[in-house]
Amino acid sequence: MKHPEYHSELKTRKNQMSAEIENVVVVGSGPAGYTAALYMARANLSPLVIEGFMWGGLLQQTTDVENYPGFPEGIMGPELMEHFRGQAERFGARLITDQASRVELSDKPGGIHTVWVEDQAYRTRAVVLAMGAEHKKLGVAGEEELSGRGVSYCATCDAAFFRDKETIIVGGGDSAMEEASFLAKFASKVTIINRRAELRASKIMVERVRSMDNIEVLTPYVVSEFVAGADGALESARLSNVESGDESKIDIKGAFIAVGHVPQSELVKGTVETDENGYVAVAGRSTKTNLPGVFAAGDLVDHTYRQAITAAGSGCQAALDAEWYLRDTPQLPA
Ligand code: NDP
Repeated sequence: MKHPEYHSELKTRKNQMSAEIENVVVVGSGPAGYTAALYMARANLSPLVIEGFMWGGLLQQTTDVENYPGFPEGIMGPELMEHFRGQAERFGARLITDQASRVELSDKPGGIHTVWVEDQAYRTRAVVLAMGAEHKKLGVAGEEELSGRGVSYCATCDAAFFRDKETIIVGGGDSAMEEASFLAKFASKVTIINRRAELRASKIMVERVRSMDNIEVLTPYVVSEFVAGADGALESARLSNVESGDESKIDIKGAFIAVGHVPQSELVKGTVETDENGYVAVAGRSTKTNLPGVFAAGDLVDHTYRQAITAAGSGCQAALDAEWYLRDTPQLPA
């Protein structure tokens, strides 16, 4: 979805920007990106945010957010992101509602980095990478249509909506176990559906799940389809036994998919150091990547906590790291 009000601004910018060197360009616009932008705007760095067409990150795909501190009545995910965005803009962050298409990052302290949006190059002294991660999808029928109507990718966010309801978790890793333990405090029943008889998750987490009365483990099964009821919400899932091929059906109100995440690091692949799963690597508790002046925050880095509040916190850290870098590092001749 393009946001028309930013198109005219973008066009004007295209004719103006090529000779300028930005202080800092933020790539990405979830809680990490906008928080980094807010802090840097308040430090008078006038950050340029390349926020993507679908600005707002994963929270744009959720409904009520009840665990973001400061909103005792809860807040809708998209509304929360509008607040983040508006707050960054209020202090002078400049937003480009388009995708970053390519980067050329310097490996020298004080070097100039370049971020492209289509054919427009933005040169900058510092970069904050905050492209986030995507929930890995199953890719089965009904999954997309019922997302937000019974199909969810975050039990921590949505479990409370399934109080006393029958639910499933798809996946057999630590995330699936953690989601199942959390969901079981609300749902009447949680069935973990895993494609192999063996669960990938750590023993202690499997034991915890197995000790809970309302959790059952069903293997080796995959979901072949999510089916809606007359009200348009999730009513059942079709299951297929991986070994025998037998088909069955399970009646459920909620399905939580926990088959891993995919960090959105393609843009910097081969330039910035990542781990074997594609998460950007940072030094210690900082947001510093292997390249001077390039910082990374949020779900792009974090495969453990993955919460809006932790992403926002790391966006703040990235802003401070960038601010200190700009203060302490003389710029090389451009
Ligand atoms: P994992 O990659 O560990 O597990 C993914 C699970 O989903 C596996 O069971 C996998 O099956 C299954 N799966 C993948 N694709 C499909 C598919 N298309 N259809 C059906 N099933 C599928 O991801 P997690 O998110 O669970 O964990 C990521 C990392 O984060 C891990 O290192 C984990 O230890 C860590 N983590 C740690 C926690 C903690 O310590 N508290 C909590 C959460 C995560 P298969 O096994 O067959 O590949």
